[in-house]
Amino acid sequence: MLICYRSKLAERLLFGNFRTMMFFGIVITKNAVLSATTKRHEGTHVRQYVECLLAGLALFVLAEGAAILCGSHVSPWWLAAVPLTYYAMYGAEWAVSYLYHIFRGDARGKWNDAAYHASAFEMEAYAHENDPDYLPRRRWYAFVKYYGKL
Ligand SMILES: [Zn+2]
Repeated sequence: MLICYRSKLAERLLFGNFRTMMFFGIVITKNAVLSATTKRHEGTHVRQYVECLLAGLALFVLAEGAAILCGSHVSPWWLAAVPLTYYAMYGAEWAVSYLYHIFRGDARGKWNDAAYHASAFEMEAYAHENDPDYLPRRRWYAFVKYYGKL
């Protein structure tokens, strides 16, 4: 896992109490060191990112194959969007969860926090960040089982 300590990009992107994030498969942090717990948490996000990248690539290949059968092509811009698959899934789930909490009337004023902690990606990372054996034995696409949970 590649970690960029004292990252200028992390300084620019992260706000509030956030100090570390996974950015396109690389961990960037404002810190000079990271705890083992944070490394496991971000390591889970790196695995999720790679899995979403592969799923996005597979979807593109399937769409291109179908388009070729129809005598057409999928725009190459969709291939450029494949690295954004994780962020698209994260953002879509966050938006749905944010609206869910508003309309449900709970987490008043803390809808962002509620949506963040209800993310399947975050639920998996938080659930296993204290388990040193989790990443080596983690199953592919393990985050999927957290969809639909709050
Ligand atoms: Zn996280």
